[in-house]
Amino acid sequence: MQYIYEADIAIAAAKQATILCKHVQHSIQLTSLEKLDQSPVTIADFGSQAIICRFLAEHFPQDAIVAEESSALLRQSPTQFSAVQKLIPDATPDQILDWIDLGQGKVGERFWTLDPIDGTKGFLRNQQYAIAIALIESGEVKVGVLSCPAFEEGCLFVAIRGQGTRRISLETGASRALSALDAPNFRLAESVETSHGDPELQRRIARSIGFTTPSLQMDSQAKYGAIASSHAGLYMRLPWKEKPNYRENIWDHAAGAIIVEEAGGQVTDMDGNPLNFSASAQLIENRGIIASSGEIHAAVLASIAQQMSQTTPDNQQGE
Ligand code: AMP
Ligand code: MG
Repeated sequence: MQYIYEADIAIAAAKQATILCKHVQHSIQLTSLEKLDQSPVTIADFGSQAIICRFLAEHFPQDAIVAEESSALLRQSPTQFSAVQKLIPDATPDQILDWIDLGQGKVGERFWTLDPIDGTKGFLRNQQYAIAIALIESGEVKVGVLSCPAFEEGCLFVAIRGQGTRRISLETGASRALSALDAPNFRLAESVETSHGDPELQRRIARSIGFTTPSLQMDSQAKYGAIASSHAGLYMRLPWKEKPNYRENIWDHAAGAIIVEEAGGQVTDMDGNPLNFSASAQLIENRGIIASSGEIHAAVLASIAQQMSQTTPDNQQGE
């Protein structure tokens, strides 16, 4: 079977990073730095990226890694840098910076994409966050591993193309196959951060296809895990009105997307197009994200198309 070795290495890397993140969350008074895009980053983001990149590069030295963080901010912040060094005591300072910057690779025929802590805001609030690792080859996500330490007792979601999605307990190691259609759940999942989507429109569309339960709000790609494990039936991420041209980062969706697809669900952009993870570090060819347990997908896309045709300025002028 193909890609089992890659999945095993990604699982091992995600588990190491999970230990580091939980240690930071439970025993260190956390502060965060602010990146240029005003999003927060913590010592756990840097530590997680360093150890995952080290691990991936040791086992797959030919593969590029496209990851969220770079060492630039850490180089300007000696206090935070020394805190990261304490998390990885067997490494020299230069090794840590080099490992983090292994993540500055480019998309190509085969590469990994990594979010060392997806949902840093959730991590800081002691809510949901995920460590997300995906392997992309020939334009297709082949392996996705999501560690979700705050999802139920803590679990890993693991998918391999053509081989299904599994849920592995971080507590007991118990593993089971997932089907998004096991227990149909007509509940919408969306971000906690209202500026990462268009909650008003998302809820209107969910209502239009018959969803009545209040939405499940969660940070990070844990939302994809919620669909794969039937805690929700639909995840919508429509562009925030103030940033209509926002393009999603590949590391924010690649692992989650294969986890939903291999559990029998469907993932497209808001126009129904497949997500193109190989064009750039951003999903430049796609707008918005729709992930569902499958059977409702066409109805959701039709409802979006209808709502958009009622609200586009061109259409308003023509009426
Ligand atoms: P979530 O926890 O699902 O809200 O997603 C967190 C991710 O949202 C972060 O990793 C950011 O890369 C991403 N993000 C930041 N700004 C925006 C935005 N305006 N629209 C959509 N996603 C965003
Ligand atoms: Mg992220």
